[in-house]
Amino acid sequence: MRRKLIAGNWKMNGSLAANAALLNGIKADLGQPACAVAVCVPAPYFAQCKAALAGTSVAWGGQDLSVHESGAYTGEVSGAMLRDFECTYVVVGHSERRTYHGESNELVAQKTGSAIKAGLTPIVCVGESLAEREAGQTEAVVGAQIDTVLAALDVDDVARIVVAYEPVWAIGTGKTATPEMAQDVHAMLRAKLASRNAAAAESVQILYGGSMKPDNARELLAMPDIDGGLIGGASLKAADFLAIIKAA
Ligand code: PEP
Repeated sequence: MRRKLIAGNWKMNGSLAANAALLNGIKADLGQPACAVAVCVPAPYFAQCKAALAGTSVAWGGQDLSVHESGAYTGEVSGAMLRDFECTYVVVGHSERRTYHGESNELVAQKTGSAIKAGLTPIVCVGESLAEREAGQTEAVVGAQIDTVLAALDVDDVARIVVAYEPVWAIGTGKTATPEMAQDVHAMLRAKLASRNAAAAESVQILYGGSMKPDNARELLAMPDIDGGLIGGASLKAADFLAIIKAA
């Protein structure tokens, strides 16, 4: 039985004051969650999250990392730097990075390996655009994204990733994949994982992301291959994030 994971992706939002209010709000009503919980935050706030969340049930992580370990790479942040602040997770290959920073499937695969090497759990994002879905290319596009990552991983490391299926057309738009649409892609992703490492495929969490909210979380999370959520907008409101955690 896979434990569900609800991970917030704050994107480029927050301030010391706003984060303190959000984290206090989450901690105040979290109780003993049945699922794993994490927040993936902008790098300048790792120290704040470590101070606020150490000893709680909420893990913290980043939203990207460099493929390099150190050196003349201005603006980059390494996996070791995330580990210095006790990050557990790092989002890799989010569609906003693929779109605005030109990240290719190959670079995302490299970043996945760098995260594992640093001792982080990569949350590897995959997903098709609306044009690709309408052209019947969802399986080909998402399949190629995950295949490139899996081909670059050691077989034993397959168990060390989390996958997030995030249809690009559902991110931040209020449009959500139906539970059946998401389940179809999640099942395909699990089959891809199984073709590389059958045992690992049973344990890897495959999250859904794309306008998951308190009012649609329960039915999405009820699907057999949906093991949690990567939550953007709704992770910035303590009440909404907590409601999704409760649904899981
Ligand atoms: C995301 O950015 O990963 C995401 C799922 O965003 P939202 O929940 O706002 O659609």
